[in-house]
Amino acid sequence: MQSLRFKAIDNLISVKEEVSVGGSEKVAASYGENVFTLKTAREYLSDEAFKSLSNSIKSGQKIDRTVANQIAAGMRHWAQSKGATHFTHWFQPLTGSSAEKHDSFFTIKSDGTAIEEFDGNALTQQEPDASSFPSGGIRATFEARGYTAWDPTSPAFIMNISQGSTLCIPTIFVSYTGECLDYKAPLLKSIESLNKAAVDVCHYFDKSVGKVTATLGWEQEYFVIDEGLANARPDLIMTGRTVFGHTPAKGQQLEDHYFGSIPERVYAFMRDFENEAYRLGIPLRTRHNEVAPAQFECAPIYEELNLAVDHNTLLMDVMSRVAKRHKLRVLLHEKPFAGINGSGKHNNWSMATDTGVNLLSPGKTPKTNLMFLAFFVNTIKGVHDNADLLRAAIASAGNDHRLGANEAPPAIISAYIGGYLSKVLNEVESRVSDKFDEQDEVMLKLDIHKNIPELLLDNTDRNRTSPFAFTGNKFEFRAVGSSANCGYNMTVLNTIMAETLTNFKNEVDALMEKGDKKEVAIMQVIKSYIKASKNVLFEGDGYSDDWQKEAAKRGLPNLKTTPLALDALVSDKAMHLFEKHKVLTHKELEARYEIELEKYIKYVQIEGRVIGDLAGNHILPAAIRYQNVLIDNIKGLKEIGIKAEGYKAQLNVLNEISEHINKVQVLTEEMTEARKAANNLGSSREKAIAYCDKVKPYFDQIRYSVDKLELLVDDSQWELPKYREMLFLR
Ligand code: ADP
Ligand code: MG
Repeated sequence: MQSLRFKAIDNLISVKEEVSVGGSEKVAASYGENVFTLKTAREYLSDEAFKSLSNSIKSGQKIDRTVANQIAAGMRHWAQSKGATHFTHWFQPLTGSSAEKHDSFFTIKSDGTAIEEFDGNALTQQEPDASSFPSGGIRATFEARGYTAWDPTSPAFIMNISQGSTLCIPTIFVSYTGECLDYKAPLLKSIESLNKAAVDVCHYFDKSVGKVTATLGWEQEYFVIDEGLANARPDLIMTGRTVFGHTPAKGQQLEDHYFGSIPERVYAFMRDFENEAYRLGIPLRTRHNEVAPAQFECAPIYEELNLAVDHNTLLMDVMSRVAKRHKLRVLLHEKPFAGINGSGKHNNWSMATDTGVNLLSPGKTPKTNLMFLAFFVNTIKGVHDNADLLRAAIASAGNDHRLGANEAPPAIISAYIGGYLSKVLNEVESRVSDKFDEQDEVMLKLDIHKNIPELLLDNTDRNRTSPFAFTGNKFEFRAVGSSANCGYNMTVLNTIMAETLTNFKNEVDALMEKGDKKEVAIMQVIKSYIKASKNVLFEGDGYSDDWQKEAAKRGLPNLKTTPLALDALVSDKAMHLFEKHKVLTHKELEARYEIELEKYIKYVQIEGRVIGDLAGNHILPAAIRYQNVLIDNIKGLKEIGIKAEGYKAQLNVLNEISEHINKVQVLTEEMTEARKAANNLGSSREKAIAYCDKVKPYFDQIRYSVDKLELLVDDSQWELPKYREMLFLR
């Protein structure tokens, strides 16, 4: 029988003809047409209902029951006009993907009449059977209920899946006892806590600021490969990455892929998912090839953080679905292929006031510059004091392959601010005095507003090796994994900022109480923060070995593996921090810690099993078949009287193959034993560490021999699609 690998290669040509090229609609015409925007709401809601909804979005006002009924009715009419027959509460459980349970609008009244219905209750709260979502021990089976609750700040939307359309209501997900079981609930709390702390600090500069929102523009990297080839790789299907595969003769060394022309089949796919995204109100803006072959990136215009997170989660889902229509597969894993770059998510983050000011954008006057400097330095201080938490927030089995792999930001959290701002900070540190006039002069002299815009926008983005880089008017958190939910690391960043800004205000107030003028007090605290957080600033090559050494000297944490990086989540500092800002309780943090460990264990366990299965069912049989061919050949040559000299090459290959067969078999068995030993350990932490230190090292050793066999065995006998095929055929 022909193997899936060769079938897939044969099919490539016909697949290409079958799949249509994406349409080229005018974006503006369809943008947001599947979203219940305020504009749409205006059309479908009474004045009262509309006012209540927009107040709830703008200032978090509660929507009462009767009004909720009206809003629900309006939403249903709109959704039905778009062909929706079902609705679902759409939420982001801690599994990492989005979840939905569809219910029909259709229902039967007690007298037997069939009607279509969607009331305020159905809009605001649902009780999905949640017992199979991770809860980290929060939910005992006797209280297995979970609740989803409407988040009016993220608009409802319609998801079209093949023929069916569903009204999706973005919701948070909590347990019966009120603990968060998802990414959104703590994110919303952290946004609120950052708002409070940031508004307080803004008031030093501008009393009219009423609200500060965090903003996020994510950049999403991904791979796209042919679906038929992907289906012939059980490792990709089960784990999202290839556990075996020899590096192709050509990889990314020619650097010919980045910003190269987008392959036609992928281009059609992009057009298609972009159109879908536009209808959902996701403002995609950029698309281009990435560094590795078959790797691409897309990015939207930035949005309010909560909405941006929903949009990223939604888009990951849309991309995967649309890819199927094109007989392609999207790989969101951080490291689908060894030997070439992995994928990340760059989270561009800033804070904006309701007066229209980007707080990380240098102002035009000395006064607004001081506000910029305050928020800028507070961010650096926050990162400095909580680098361990940021590291924990991006830890995952997938991201472990990337961080510190000399192609992605290292596991050491540092901040890059560019040469010009480094100079500014040095200047402030050395020249700010406690006299008002002199200090005012320093501010004027710095003249940030003139120099920053030009200098920054060119200079700051050059250093791509930093995990946390200032890029002119925002910070870019680059160490996030490509498959991660953006909400989690942003929650941590917001909370850190809320804490730092709160302390900042306390310190400034204290100085003012002692009689310092406001500006002097602010400059003094800024100066002390610059001093205190210097260690975390790094302008050099983050991929270099020198930085590893230098960072160690500076005492910066460098936790390369998830099980250890996660410890920071449950430190006393973290417990205090998240509780103080009402983002996560001790219990919730502990649960999250437990869930992350469990995810790690399960993930590595599955990889181990897949490696064992593939080695046993695919690799060894193919190698042994070829071993037999060689044996027969040698036997035959011997039989007709050829001397040993004459079949030396065959013997060499045979010996090499036999050696690797042996290694694969022995190592696979040892790995299985190591897994058993790890499973028998007590705590999740111990298990995770054992999987990391005792099980995982076998993966590379086994892979080494398998990849050698791939080179030795007759190509026609090899069943797994090779790297050159997955990366270059489309
Ligand atoms: P690149 O990093 O590829 O050079 P840009 O710097 O232009 O690209 O933008 C990257 C992302 O940063 C985009 O999604 C953009 O919308 C976003 N961005 C720009 N300004 C802000 C901001 N104030 N807050 C959050 N994100 C922003
Ligand atoms: Mg960028």
